Amino acid sequence: MLEQARQLLEKHYGFSSFRPGQERAIQSVLEGNDTLCVMPTGGGKSICYQIPALVMEGTAIVISPLISLMKDQVDALLQAGIPAAYINSSLSAAEAAERMSSAKEGKYQLLYIAPERLESPEFMSRLMELPIPLIAVDEAHCISQWGHDFRPSYQRISRMIDRLPQKPAVMALTATATEKVREDICLSLNIDESNTVITGFARENLSFSVIKGQDRQRFLKEFLKKNASESGIIYAATRKNVDQLHEGLMKNGISVSKYHAGMSDNERISGQEDFLLDRTTVMVATNAFGMGIDKSNIRYVIHYQLPKNMESYYQEAGRAGRDGLDSECILLYSPQDVQVQRFLIDQSGDRFRMPQELEKLQLMTDYCHTEGCLQQKIVRYFSGNDIPPCGRCGNCTDNRESRDVTKDAQMVLSCLVRMGQKRYGKALLAQVLTGSQNKKVLDFGFSSLPTYGIMKNRSAKDVTSFIEFLISQELIAVEHGTYPVIYVHPNGKDVLTGNRTLFRKEAVQTREIASGDELFEALRAVRKSLAEKESVPPFVIFS
Ligand code: ADP
Ligand code: MG
Ligand code: ZN
Repeated sequence: MLEQARQLLEKHYGFSSFRPGQERAIQSVLEGNDTLCVMPTGGGKSICYQIPALVMEGTAIVISPLISLMKDQVDALLQAGIPAAYINSSLSAAEAAERMSSAKEGKYQLLYIAPERLESPEFMSRLMELPIPLIAVDEAHCISQWGHDFRPSYQRISRMIDRLPQKPAVMALTATATEKVREDICLSLNIDESNTVITGFARENLSFSVIKGQDRQRFLKEFLKKNASESGIIYAATRKNVDQLHEGLMKNGISVSKYHAGMSDNERISGQEDFLLDRTTVMVATNAFGMGIDKSNIRYVIHYQLPKNMESYYQEAGRAGRDGLDSECILLYSPQDVQVQRFLIDQSGDRFRMPQELEKLQLMTDYCHTEGCLQQKIVRYFSGNDIPPCGRCGNCTDNRESRDVTKDAQMVLSCLVRMGQKRYGKALLAQVLTGSQNKKVLDFGFSSLPTYGIMKNRSAKDVTSFIEFLISQELIAVEHGTYPVIYVHPNGKDVLTGNRTLFRKEAVQTREIASGDELFEALRAVRKSLAEKESVPPFVIFS
């Protein structure tokens, strides 16, 4: 069976060997197991369902979320001599009917359909007439509310499968491997979680870095000067940002295309083509660009602004270095981008998903504030596994001296405990620490706390960034309800009690402790309560 798979790989795709995981995934479905296949973007998921489709009798159905993606895939299959077709809203009713007839005659080995089709009873009854050995659910994270791209019609897939006269093999594929999403997919499609094939999420040829506190325009200018002949993508948050950047770069004589959803079809297509065919070297785009794009020689992906979550980030950044050569993924971080993303989430008006979206944004922010290996952070996020530090990323190669910030952390944590846990957000904590005269601070009586103004010689921005750092270190936790509130993470206890020393690289001016005795007192009280109870209880009020 596997020998046949290998021959097909050679014959249709011209590849001599499978990539990690491909063989296992193919074997698993061919042995009759419903399978979840999790591989990073560019890992080669398509082959995992296409080869079984070639081996099996009948027409494999592929559910795919994007019209453009379907067309590209089908074109590629036809070129490889594999009979395939797609049915989606770009076809007229007559064309769709015609393809269904051809499918019934057994003309296709793969038929791509958009999930929305499953909502049509008429289409469903025609589907029932086909011999379907395999259902492949591409971009399967669309099933999950926890995915970054939830599609309600994906939840109809399981009902469709149940209605088929003969149970087909099911294969779900995604690059999003967070546990929640994996669980959702398996639950929805009735896949045994032990039939998950998951490959390493580390991309050995990518070096990640986060650039903070720099003039972004200047950074970009210098970077592009150094990498003038290299192909790369710059992602910006809004259409307006894209237009502005594009104009600025053109003025600087850079060979650049742009892409966003506000452009006409023609403009977009020609911009994309110029870039894909190396007529331009740089693409400035919103996240509308890139799905299904298979350009192998992208040497860098720069995020000019913070993406909304890790899933989007890794998918976009992962477009660099598909050819396996060394490439860079750079995120330009500025704290106000977090506010922008929060605003966008707020504006989306989806009350139900808001807490999740905010939590994901927080995890994205954590990534920017971590001082550990960035590749490690990504892999842990997506697969829950630990890998050794990559040795290449911005943090692994950062040889600035670390500073002992245990005292600062204790100040922040004890102030948080005194204010009351799970009641307030980061901003208010920063205000109390810096001794703000803000109405809320005064109304709540925080100005009488011994920790009030304990960091008053530091800027609110600086203190907020330090709080973000503590969150990224899992010393402070965030609970996302109607609005996000913070509390001391169980790990924070060790820092409070002085059992753990905390280091940080970021350059911060040292300052005097505002009231040393009071801090000492505050800490003593907190330590005492910690000694009595296992974890910091919520709502501790000290007398
Ligand atoms: P994904 O869907 O996981 O993002 P694709 O299936 O689009 O990835 O494949 C990404 C690229 O990797 C494609 O250009 C594909 O031809 C190539 N590829 C896939 N499998 C192999 C293999 N075994 N050997 C070499 N190249 C491969
Ligand atoms: Mg794919
Ligand atoms: Zn690293």
